[in-house]
Amino acid sequence: MVIGAGQAGASLVAKLRSEGFDGRITLIGAEAYPPYQRPPLSKAYLLGEMTRERLFLRPEVYYKDHAIDLRLNTRVSALDPTKRVVVLGNERMEYDMLALTTGSVPVALPDAVVAGRSGMHIIRGLDDIDGVKPEFIQGRRVLIIGGGYVGLEAAAVAAKKGLDVTLIHRSERILGRISAAETSDYFRELHRTYGVDIREGVTLAALSGEGHIRTARLSDASVLEVDFIIAGIGVTPATQLAKAAGLSIDNGIKVDALGRTSDAHIWAAGDCTSFPYKGGRIRLESVPNAIDQAECVAKNMLGAGQKYIAKPWFWSDQYNVKLQIAGLNTGYDNIVRRVGDKAGAVSFWYYQGDRLLAVDAMNDARAYMVGKRLIEAAKSPEKALVQNPETDLKVLLR
Ligand code: NAP
Repeated sequence: MVIGAGQAGASLVAKLRSEGFDGRITLIGAEAYPPYQRPPLSKAYLLGEMTRERLFLRPEVYYKDHAIDLRLNTRVSALDPTKRVVVLGNERMEYDMLALTTGSVPVALPDAVVAGRSGMHIIRGLDDIDGVKPEFIQGRRVLIIGGGYVGLEAAAVAAKKGLDVTLIHRSERILGRISAAETSDYFRELHRTYGVDIREGVTLAALSGEGHIRTARLSDASVLEVDFIIAGIGVTPATQLAKAAGLSIDNGIKVDALGRTSDAHIWAAGDCTSFPYKGGRIRLESVPNAIDQAECVAKNMLGAGQKYIAKPWFWSDQYNVKLQIAGLNTGYDNIVRRVGDKAGAVSFWYYQGDRLLAVDAMNDARAYMVGKRLIEAAKSPEKALVQNPETDLKVLLR
């Protein structure tokens, strides 16, 4: 049984079948839809350039053809690891093996600020996008709270559609949780050229409006007239069920290198987990990690005994810029800037001493690809070579 029908859950059940598991599989999802891709939600789907059908990871018939009992609109209310039972409302289902792929939940703005007014949106699930899409009308004023991926991607879509966009970010620079100041500067400038008003070091203090939001007062005492608000202020791992069942939690459901939780019959994968990584533990909020970890866990549920080795990478699309990130920059102390061959291509290479940790590449697929392969092979090219635009990056791989 698999609880959570997002990217990790879908990848896990598909892998169980492709690895030859022929027992019963139940995949339980709280939403009304078969597993779908989330990345396009804040990009092409919000922009109206992608149909809903293209979001689905697999056609519904796939689950039938592969004898996967897909239960949608279904919430698991409790889990009893001692009896190996899952409770779904009035129904109780027994399992031999269980996987938790419950993902993460958006952080909400304080109730005291929102106070039941309409016009507040988040960008997380398909229903959220369908709810906010009709607001994207030229000339309307949107306030976006949070300068992470959600906020910046939503700002790009809104600006492209001709809305009047203000984005506020709590700490001193957008993308501060993810990237160095160089990348933040690049995206701040990009958004400014499209007319987005980015205000950093600012939060929402209060809202006014009877029923619907009318104005937003910010922490710097400025007041904005707004038609609607989008909050993209982060997520937390969905651990409630696991915690109530007594499983170990440590910044997510704690799993070992194989993906097993503190209960021998329960496994977990994706955003909801923290797992061993380079002598410590990490939790990754990323689709590539959800897929790779889930596939590894599926094999381990069938006895493979294969340790999960994360190869972190991320991407974002904003306007005509593709940001691709290879590796994790934690602990960097110097950065090398490289200008790529194509117009506008630039990449930032993060080093700790002489050790390459990560690469942020903007419109430079080659820098990303080479950087990723180098990081995975634990190779660190000389900085002068990286910086020199004459260097053929492929040479660095030899
Ligand atoms: P995020 O990347 O964690 O960014 C949220 C940002 O909001 C943080 O930088 C935070 O600033 C800021 N913030 C928090 N509270 C705030 C407040 N009260 N006022 C103003 N700013 C505030 O999370 P997200 O953008 O909401 O994305 C949610 C999840 O979706 C993440 O897992 C993300 O990876 C995923 N996602 C990924 C992509 C992609 O990979 N392209 C696209 C969309 C969504 P501080 O730094 O001050 O804490």
